[in-house]
Amino acid sequence: MKANFTMEMDNLLLDLDERGVSKDVQVAILKLPQRTLTRRLGYIRRKGGVSNIDYAEKTERNRQKVSYRKPEFDQKQEIKLRRCLMCLKDFPSFGEGNQICPKCKKTSAWLTGYG
Ligand SMILES: [Zn+2]
Repeated sequence: MKANFTMEMDNLLLDLDERGVSKDVQVAILKLPQRTLTRRLGYIRRKGGVSNIDYAEKTERNRQKVSYRKPEFDQKQEIKLRRCLMCLKDFPSFGEGNQICPKCKKTSAWLTGYG
């Protein structure tokens, strides 16, 4: 079974090892087989430290942050008054491409293209 190391566990493991705590004490504290701990220490050192390791829980948190962000088009959309190209009355328009008022869009002239 693959052990799921957290950043706290890695920090503890590194700390114990650097203090010269014996392997069987490390095993007793972290409750994992010595082979697993030795392999993990090697992994941390290869990565150059705990701060360079991608932890699953960290990644999960980032993913949630992204999904909570408001979509861009929501923030940029501005509603302002524009003059309708057909009846020349002002109406609230949702953007550059919206230049015919809702009332005129319902007329047969707009729908068929004949005036
Ligand atoms: Zn109109």
